[in-house]
Parts: sequence; C-alpha cells; structure tokens
Amino acid sequence: MIFPILKITDEDRTPLVALRQSCIDVTEFNRELQEIVEGMIQTLLRSNGVGLSAPQIGRNLNLFVMRAHPDPPDRRQVRVIINPKTIAEVGEDVSTPNEKLEGCLSIPGVLGLVTRRHEVDFVYWDENGQRHRDSLGGMDARIYQHEGDHLCGVLLVDKAEAFYPTGHHFAEAHRTQTAAGAI
Ligand SMILES: [Zn+2]
Repeated sequence: MIFPILKITDEDRTPLVALRQSCIDVTEFNRELQEIVEGMIQTLLRSNGVGLSAPQIGRNLNLFVMRAHPDPPDRRQVRVIINPKTIAEVGEDVSTPNEKLEGCLSIPGVLGLVTRRHEVDFVYWDENGQRHRDSLGGMDARIYQHEGDHLCGVLLVDKAEAFYPTGHHFAEAHRTQTAAGAI
C-alpha cells in the first residue's frame, strides 16, 4: 500500500498538527504493524526518498524507515527503525555544504542547510520485535537524525541555517569558501 505523505503545503491543517506531535512507542509487534511498515517501505521507494517517518503518514508512532543514500531504490536496502533510543550523538559534522543540504518529503520545494552530528549510536527494535544496537556515520547518521527529529515533532525548518530551492547545488568555489568557515 502506498500511503499519502502529509505535506505542510496541504490545504487543510492536518499535517501541521500531525507533524508537530511527539510520537509514542510501538508496543504491539503484530500484523497491523507489519502492514504499516511494509506500506511505509513501498511509499519511501515510490517517492524516491531516503527516509520516511510514521508521523508523515499520519501515524503517531516511534517508527521510521530509511535507506542508504545514494543507492537506487531497493527493498533490501531499507532499514526499519522502531522505538529508537539514542545512546550517543558524537563528532563534528564534516559534511560538505552540498551534503548538508537536506530535503523533506513533507516540505516540498525546499532544501535546508543543516549541521548534524557525524555519528549516532542507538538501540532500536525491528518489525518482528527483535532488539538491536547499531551505529551509523555520515549521511546515514544524518538521515537517522532527521527522521528522529520527526518523531519529536521537529522539522528541518527548525534547524536549518539557510534555505535554498530544490535542486540547488553549491559551486565548487563556494564550497571552498564555506568550508573555510563562512558557515
Ligand atoms: Zn523529513
């Protein structure tokens, strides 16, 4: 099943409320949950995104799906993260300005320049109720932090230092300049 993705540009106020709520932990690892997860995976792949959280489809649950960037859409690459508990977020962000440009499926047309932590260490549950511990770095850590923010009602517009239209790409000269400390 492909879920409609709530967007802040929608005409009614539903997304503005749903995307600003804090989510609650999943407690039942049942067939209904697995159907939600499978639908979120299909929705993520169809939209060509790298991450999708439950509140973006109107579900108030601590749950998101993410995939390694920039791999092509592939079901086997999708990671299901349920009830994530972050143990540590460490390390200075060493991303280039282009790598810091984040988009959001719920905020069409805009990229935000966001500084994140380089590495995250966390525990989570999969859709079968199995507990795991893992760490991610770089772009994967960025996606984890972006989706984790969604579960707390936080959006990239709250954290971005600057905004650009979708498709924006810093020129190399600008990249050198910003890397030297302009941002
Ligand atoms: Zn998002």
